[in-house]
Amino acid sequence: MIIVSACLAGCKCRYDGKSNEVAEIKKLVLENKAIALCPEELGGLPTPRIPCEQVKINNEFKVIGQDKNDYTREFTKGAKIVVNVAKALNCKIAILKANSPSCGYGQIYDGSFTGKHTKGNGITSYLLAKNGVQILNEENFHSILNLKN
Ligand code: SF4
Repeated sequence: MIIVSACLAGCKCRYDGKSNEVAEIKKLVLENKAIALCPEELGGLPTPRIPCEQVKINNEFKVIGQDKNDYTREFTKGAKIVVNVAKALNCKIAILKANSPSCGYGQIYDGSFTGKHTKGNGITSYLLAKNGVQILNEENFHSILNLKN
């Protein structure tokens, strides 16, 4: 079983109430090869919601909203739920939305809300990788499409 970002599977769970649907990723879910999860919704945040990005404050990563509030707790809660699902279903691969403060891996938005990127990992991607899950995104997932399960 593969974990995918719910927005890539067509769920309208993005901060702005839209999706990032990728037909092949949605197909994986419809064929029961993947499970679609949105860590930010699982963390208790509403959709639509305030856009958030990661920033480093006093050597610690925080998730701060455009409204200047700290949403680190909700993001962390959602990430832990996704890790629990990954463990329960023995998921070894995740296809997660690039650049997101939750789902990005290797590169995320830089905290300036200007669309610029920086090196880093979303909270969910970081925790999944730490637990042995291979993280792919919507641009590089094609190599695993022939997997049976
Ligand atoms: Fe998509 Fe992940 Fe953001 Fe949810 S948290 S909308 S799954 S990128």
